[in-house]
Amino acid sequence: MTNSTKNILRVLSIVLIFLIVSTCSSGDDMADYSSQYEVTGPQTSTTNTTPSTTNTTPSTTNTTPTTESASTNVSTSDFNSETNMVLLRIYMYESDGSGGENEIIITEEVPVFDIEGSTHKFYTNMGATQLIQLDEDGNVIYGEDERDSYFQTTHFEVPVKLDFQVTSNVEVNMEVYYSNAQDPDNPDKPTEVYEYIWDFGDNGNIDGKSIVAWRTTEYEQYTTPFALFPVKFGGKYRSTSNFPMSEIVYKQLLSMEYENVEFRYESDLYTSEQDVLDNIKVNFDQSLSDMAGTNGPNNLSVINLFGGREYFCGAEAFCVGNDGFINIFVKTPDLYIFSHEIGHTWSLREDSPVNWTDWEDIQVNNFVSDYGLTNVYEYFADAFFLYFSGQLELEDFPDQFKLPDLVKEKLDSYFQ
Ligand SMILES: [Zn+2]
Repeated sequence: MTNSTKNILRVLSIVLIFLIVSTCSSGDDMADYSSQYEVTGPQTSTTNTTPSTTNTTPSTTNTTPTTESASTNVSTSDFNSETNMVLLRIYMYESDGSGGENEIIITEEVPVFDIEGSTHKFYTNMGATQLIQLDEDGNVIYGEDERDSYFQTTHFEVPVKLDFQVTSNVEVNMEVYYSNAQDPDNPDKPTEVYEYIWDFGDNGNIDGKSIVAWRTTEYEQYTTPFALFPVKFGGKYRSTSNFPMSEIVYKQLLSMEYENVEFRYESDLYTSEQDVLDNIKVNFDQSLSDMAGTNGPNNLSVINLFGGREYFCGAEAFCVGNDGFINIFVKTPDLYIFSHEIGHTWSLREDSPVNWTDWEDIQVNNFVSDYGLTNVYEYFADAFFLYFSGQLELEDFPDQFKLPDLVKEKLDSYFQ
């Protein structure tokens, strides 16, 4: 490798830690979702020396700087067992200066080593160790979320493979890797890192069941599957947490359609489709009726109904706005849950007219609710709820809920 490439690698200490933290909220949102996905590391100008347009096509052949190629390039797989080296694509993301990101890919041959009891390879660079999965042909398996990467988390010491099996109602075949060394660049972050690798199953299902909850030894309550944020790497799921996972729950989800929305529900939670309707109809109908004549519910496509267990901090719902998904964690959702979450699916969709900078400005001097102080997305969703469905809250709790004229006028501009 060239010296310049070495230098680039030195500064590319990508720390990808998924902070598995469930915030105490009655409605998580996109912001919570994305905050679990933090990429930190030295933002140095050195990275800019790599032209971001040339290396963006994944390739194993044309970007490796080498002058001694004949023998090392004979191997057709990424892993060379003779040299114990792996050909890696290293993905970098940096701001493009206008709100977007540039993806930079560097292809590099790196030395790897084994850990006792594991079939995976490990790569240590500048004190940071990352786990590399190889397929049966010796090629690196990359994550299949929106940020391709060969690794899921960084350990700041060589991890050990723990000998424990998580409790589950299905067979998950989970491997656990553990380290307990502080990231020298982020002393405020948790030290302990548990990295999990387990069967992805069939489309994420094992025995026809999907992940609906998990918990750690730290809390009795369950955490939502979305805080686990598992990423598919080939035939495996990978995820991390800062406390040891003690249980992961898979349940069968059934599906029914109501008011052009797909409701997916735990088969153990409701006895029949009629039982689902008995639990959701009154408040869901009211929510839609409150928005009648507007495009408020238009982006809503799927509501997942999970429940029958206590979720951490009482998180009751979670919205993946752009996709029109709402995930609800109580058996009988109230009007607030439906209208607030629809506020997310309406405002966070791709063609939403919402200018979040405008709303941040409005938020500063226009109290709506305590929960609306969380961030601008929750502020909007609570204002949306009060605007359409929250008349009783405004009358009965005038100190806790407000819909200032400026906020109402802004919402009028979308819905009147
Ligand atoms: Zn919310």
